[in-house]
Amino acid sequence: SPTLRLILGDQLNPLHPWLRAPRRDVVHLLMEVRQETDYARHHAQKVIGIFAAMRAFAQQLQAQGHRVRYVRIDDPSNRQSLTANLDALVRHYRAAALEYQSPDEWRLDALLRDWSQRQSIPCRAVDSQHFLTAREETATLFAGRQQWLMEHFYRVQRRRHRVLMEGAKPAGGRWNFDADNRKRWNGTPPEPPDTRPIHDHSRLWQAIESAGVQTIGHPQAEQFRWPLNRTEALQQLDRFIEHALPHFGDFQDALSPTHHLRLFHSLLSLALNTKMLHPREVLQRAEAAWQAGHAPLPAVEGFIRQILGWREYVRGVYWAHMPGYTAHNALQHQRPLPHWFWTGQTRMACMAQAIGQSLAHAYAHHIQRLMVIGNFALLAGLDPAEVHRWYLGIYIDAFEWVEAPNTLGMSQYADGGLLATKPYVSSAAYLQRMGAPCPRCHYDAQARTGERACPYNALYWHFWLRHRQRFEHHPRMGMAYRQLDRMDATTLQALRQQAEQTLNRLDAL
Ligand code: FAD
Repeated sequence: SPTLRLILGDQLNPLHPWLRAPRRDVVHLLMEVRQETDYARHHAQKVIGIFAAMRAFAQQLQAQGHRVRYVRIDDPSNRQSLTANLDALVRHYRAAALEYQSPDEWRLDALLRDWSQRQSIPCRAVDSQHFLTAREETATLFAGRQQWLMEHFYRVQRRRHRVLMEGAKPAGGRWNFDADNRKRWNGTPPEPPDTRPIHDHSRLWQAIESAGVQTIGHPQAEQFRWPLNRTEALQQLDRFIEHALPHFGDFQDALSPTHHLRLFHSLLSLALNTKMLHPREVLQRAEAAWQAGHAPLPAVEGFIRQILGWREYVRGVYWAHMPGYTAHNALQHQRPLPHWFWTGQTRMACMAQAIGQSLAHAYAHHIQRLMVIGNFALLAGLDPAEVHRWYLGIYIDAFEWVEAPNTLGMSQYADGGLLATKPYVSSAAYLQRMGAPCPRCHYDAQARTGERACPYNALYWHFWLRHRQRFEHHPRMGMAYRQLDRMDATTLQALRQQAEQTLNRLDAL
């Protein structure tokens, strides 16, 4: 009797030690189940992308001589739950043992742990060998601290993994080039061409639809643009390094006034989060591009910070605070999402662009997620649990371990400032400065009150007013309160009224 080895949809790493050589006494299990399509309402491209990548992975394993049992979404024997399928497969194969790679989501980790405890055969979790830090490491690093500063974590990782180091010092004498990385983009250099492969997955999409899976967004099934295996992911990495990395730093925080999908971002998050790529190889290639003189240090440092810093750090925050992290609501925000979160149909040009693009491509870059959509949600006091579910569904790269700390922590301040040093809010002035499409907006970015005033403006002041008690004495927020205190009573009253009217008609914006 064989050992069964479960491989989840985000564990598509052909370099895992499990897969070094085919063994007749091991059967690899991959399954497409409703349990996973239904825990959130996902973007159609996310479901297509993960299933298509799983299918390609299974085929590759079979071609290499591995034994694989693949359960398709429309397979009559599919019980549509991981554990119900495992029960059946353990019986079917008279399995001697069951092994799985530790899941990255708390939900699945708990499920498989509980299921394992009920089995009479030995069950064992092994490392997925993907991350650079262990699950619990971040909690240990920050033990006893109220604020978990990413910068501290990041420097520890730079030293430990010897990335961008010159002896004991950071390359270029600085750990952080953020201050150099805030340019506005005016169309030059041009956005690199989108060279991602094109796949036709219309048949898979039909199967997903016939199975009754409810999704959001456009499937783009006939022209599916995401890398779906390691070879394609490596190509995407190479092209990013070649064409976009040199400018990544300059325009890291930029928005586009016209429809540009990614500016100089990498589009690598799906490949990384499904483990087709290892973060170490991405870091090595970026560092090598700097050493070869192909990309400047601020760009390379800015990019490396995202992967060696933020990505590992948010995972540590997640594991230290689950379960329970997703229920935080420190600012007591309760408003439901306006309906246009599901259609992109709002007269705010920046929101229409960011949400419209998310629905069309299952992608928005970081500044759109944080400073356009997240900023608005926080200013408008939207319920962070609803915001979290929206983000968890809509992006191709959304897995809870990375999505939840970003949404609830960094973007919505729902954890009370554990992760973010300040709430990420701004008025229209910031958005305009970073290149948002304000010039073609129905609303006036300069106006604070009146019919055409940009909603971000009054909501921005309203946010500080309604959370005065919490933030007034915060060292990084004094500026906002000093500005408020200089306003006369009539101005304040007008701002308040404008904000309240806006909040009462969010659906109509
Ligand atoms: P690039 O800008 O090219 O960055 C390179 C890589 O760095 C990314 O692929 C990603 O792996 C990593 N990275 C960058 N920023 C972060 C970050 N803040 N946290 C963790 N990793 C980071 N990222 C996800 O992978 N999944 C999510 O569900 C997700 N949800 C988010 C929700 C909100 C509200 C915010 C503000 C950010 C979220 N992010 C998420 C982080 C980030 O926006 C995306 O990783 C990034 O936009 C993916 O596009 P890219 O591959 O082109 O990234």
